[in-house]
Amino acid sequence: MTAPTSLHDLPAAERDLLDRIAGLAEGFAAEAGGFDERAEIAVGNLDVLHEAGLDAAVLPAHLGGTGLSYQAFGEAVRILAAADPSTATIVTMHSGAAVGLAELTRERQGGFFADELLAGKRFANALSEPTSGNRFLNPQQEARRAEGGWLLDGTKRFVSGSEIADYLLVNALVDGEPTFFAVIPDETVTIIPIWDTLGLRATRSQLLSFSDTLLREEYRGRSPRPGDFAAVPAGLPAISLGIADAALASLVDHARGRAILGKPLSHQQWIQHEVADAQSRLEAVHAFFQRTLAEADAGRPEFFSNLSRAKYLANKIAVDVAQLGVRVGGASGYLKQSPIQRHLRNAQAGQLMAYSTEVLATEIGKEVLGVVETPENEEVA
Ligand SMILES: Cc1cc2nc3c(=O)[nH]c(=O)nc-3n(C[C@H](O)[C@H](O)[C@H](O)COP(=O)(O)OP(=O)(O)OC[C@H]3O[C@@H](n4cnc5c(N)ncnc54)[C@H](O)[C@@H]3O)c2cc1C
Repeated sequence: MTAPTSLHDLPAAERDLLDRIAGLAEGFAAEAGGFDERAEIAVGNLDVLHEAGLDAAVLPAHLGGTGLSYQAFGEAVRILAAADPSTATIVTMHSGAAVGLAELTRERQGGFFADELLAGKRFANALSEPTSGNRFLNPQQEARRAEGGWLLDGTKRFVSGSEIADYLLVNALVDGEPTFFAVIPDETVTIIPIWDTLGLRATRSQLLSFSDTLLREEYRGRSPRPGDFAAVPAGLPAISLGIADAALASLVDHARGRAILGKPLSHQQWIQHEVADAQSRLEAVHAFFQRTLAEADAGRPEFFSNLSRAKYLANKIAVDVAQLGVRVGGASGYLKQSPIQRHLRNAQAGQLMAYSTEVLATEIGKEVLGVVETPENEEVA
């Protein structure tokens, strides 16, 4: 069977799920400002998404789920991000950690983590470290051998949804090699409450401290490999695209609703030109993203490097649209009560999440230019 190349061609079950998510998202959008203001995780959103079948759908069929296509997953995250990007971010990280743990520990744990996901348990990705920065797959913290596994003494930072997580996907160096583990948070794992941010406030992406936490031998996972469902790389561009959609919708509302000297702002030519440019570029990035997800569904290997391009473009267009919103919104869009300022704050966060636009630009640029680093020509600080 060939993979669908358009959202209209998705199987009926996936289209039904997307319809259910779109229905729920209307309610999420109405509450998103309040959760952002309070920096509070919208736990109820996550519960109803589980009940709507999202977790079962995200789990691949060979792990006991129904196996959502990349295209449907990307669309689900985009719909959620347009309504409440913090919910979309937690869903992306939770899906990545849960499916990752189910996949990576299958040999040792069988279907345990898959069953826990299906039962509604929550997962979080505790990968980023202070010294690894954006290179979250290159942990710098070495775990030391102990009875039953290895001990981790260190920190993981910006762990979205960590306060409600039943399980953490953690990486550390074991004998010099990056190694993945499942960790059930116990008294050795404490939350350092740093999360008071400009944007994506309701993700509560806290700093976690591990004080000689046992990384259990039986919870050690294999390394990720091609063919594993890449929820986080597929979700990150969709988060920024959803934020861009929301920013554009707020801009249009404002331009149509506000009259200056008897005419709506939308009649001003500079706004028409800027909106034409922003909306056309947003459509183009969306089309590229969808094409990339169709490549992923078809199992074409180029999808991975194109997901980097999609994230790079989506992060940038979200900031561009949100900045235009602030210009069109004027001082009224700058008020806390306006969604326009919230979209700008949220759009900025997309660029920071790994890999950042700077890191991606380096990767893409090197690929285009055919630059191969060797120890001799590597730049040194
Ligand atoms: C909202 C949000 C949610 C997150 N959720 C999670 C999560 O659930 N789990 C998790 O593990 N992590 C999460 N992160 C962490 C994130 O993915 C990054 O790993 C982390 O933000 C990187 O650290 P830093 O922002 O301090 O940036 P740094 O990596 O210190 O970067 C600072 C600057 O240096 C640049 N830079 C960094 N490295 C390079 C390089 N190699 N080459 C060129 N430039 C470079 C960056 O682009 C940036 O401009 C989240 C972050 C945010 C903002």
